[in-house]
Formats: sequence, C-alpha cells, structure tokens
Amino acid sequence: MKRDLGGNLKQYWGQHWINALLLALAVSAGGSAILSGCQAPDASAVDAASSALKTGCQVNADQKASFLKPVGVPTLKVRVDDQFTDAQILAIKKAVDEWNIFSTRVAGRPYLEVTKNTVPDAVRSMDPHECSGGFGTPDAFYVVRQQSNSKWQTMGFSSNISAATVRCDDGSSVTEQVILVNTSVTDAVQLTSVALHELGHALGLDHSCADSFGKTDFKGCAGIPTTHAYRKAVMFPTLKKAHFDGDIPDIKETLQENDTARATCISMGDSQ
Ligand SMILES: [Zn+2]
Repeated sequence: MKRDLGGNLKQYWGQHWINALLLALAVSAGGSAILSGCQAPDASAVDAASSALKTGCQVNADQKASFLKPVGVPTLKVRVDDQFTDAQILAIKKAVDEWNIFSTRVAGRPYLEVTKNTVPDAVRSMDPHECSGGFGTPDAFYVVRQQSNSKWQTMGFSSNISAATVRCDDGSSVTEQVILVNTSVTDAVQLTSVALHELGHALGLDHSCADSFGKTDFKGCAGIPTTHAYRKAVMFPTLKKAHFDGDIPDIKETLQENDTARATCISMGDSQ
C-alpha cells in the first residue's frame, strides 16, 4: 500500500493483505489462511525504479514494472533486533545467507551484512506511515520484532499481517527503510520464508505479480495457477499458513528461478 504522505513514502506490506480479501481467500482455500502482501507502487515510481536496473538484464515483459526504488549503496547493513529469540535470529540469518549466496554468485559480494542490535525506542515506536528520516539510513536498516498485537494494530496493521517492509526514498533511491515482523502471528516454521520475502523488498524487488489484475508490464496475481513460476517465487505476495492440524504451510526458504532472474537486475549502487 502506498502512503503518499510527504510525497516520498512507498509502503509495502509484507506477507498479507490488510483487508477483507484475506478473509475471502482464507475461506476459499478451505481453512488455510492466505498470507498476502504488498501492493504495487504507482506508475511513476515504477518508471523511475526500472530505469535504475542493470543494463542487459533479462526481465519478462510482464514483470518490467516489478521493481521498487533501488538501493543506492553496494551493501546493506541488516540490524536484527536483539529482542528476537536466538532461534528467530538464526531463522532471519538463514534468509540473509540465501540472498548473499545469490549475490556473491552474480555480483561477487554479499549484498547484506547482518548484525544483532539493540533497536532504539524511537525506531521501535516509529510511525510506518511517515518518513521521518529517523528509522534508518540509506545503507542500514533494522529488522524490528513486534510482539504486541494491540501495538501492531495501533501502527495500522491488521493482526493477520505477519511482517511489513517500509521504504522511503528521495525520488531516485532509498533513503531509509525498516522491516517490521510481528512474531505473535508469524509461524516459527515460516519465519525464514517471511524474512526472505521481506529482504527481497529491502533489496528493491516488488512482488512477482501485482495486486489483482495488474497491467501489461506487471502481471496481476489474480487467477495465476499454482504451477506458474510467479506463484512459486519467494516474492509471490501470498504465503499459505497452516491453520489447522494437517495443513501444510508454504515454506519458501530457497530463492526460485523467477526471484533470481529479477534480482540479477538490481543495481545496488553499481554503475549501470
Ligand atoms: Zn511482500
């Protein structure tokens, strides 16, 4: 969801829709909650973002607009909240490692450096609808643990949302961003999957397909078959959650072909 306060905030909700669509999908899925996600940026944002892609990269015609504003630095520092449990931190690091294995292969360096940090109160209580210039810097962002559902809702998130990536930019590249994870609604077995997806947003990937019916250069997710590459992608906007005993939750801990094809186009501050 784009919140255009001040003209430079693009907000992307992670892993869940934030409205009744979630409930409708949950019902049609036979009891499995569908965790769904972020909405597409506006056309002008897409155009600016697309122009920052590496030349020569291969993007499907119907994914040309599936990029967010680029990161203007070669490496991002990922500051993981020390209020996560050790197991949760390991799960997040596993996602960081997956992205770094990829980036080392295509760019010869890790895109992400991870450390465990104390999150300042001002960051923990940030308003995700405002670009404050205070919750991150162009080269570093926090992964913040939220545990209180009432606080989560106060921040404007449905209790069905497991995580969100908030990104702010100056029109050309990211100025600050933050990943918020609600561990009270995120299944432990899905934390790496959720983190891998959110880190994809932090690196500059929008979803593999767009909200609803999409458009020519950003295929819509509506009606996309389960066998489709965009559906299998880590960056697909929904993640099925195990709702009852016997349900098999989606586990997406490995970047898929469509994820890496798009991520190869991310410039990360490289000369293009
Ligand atoms: Zn998302």
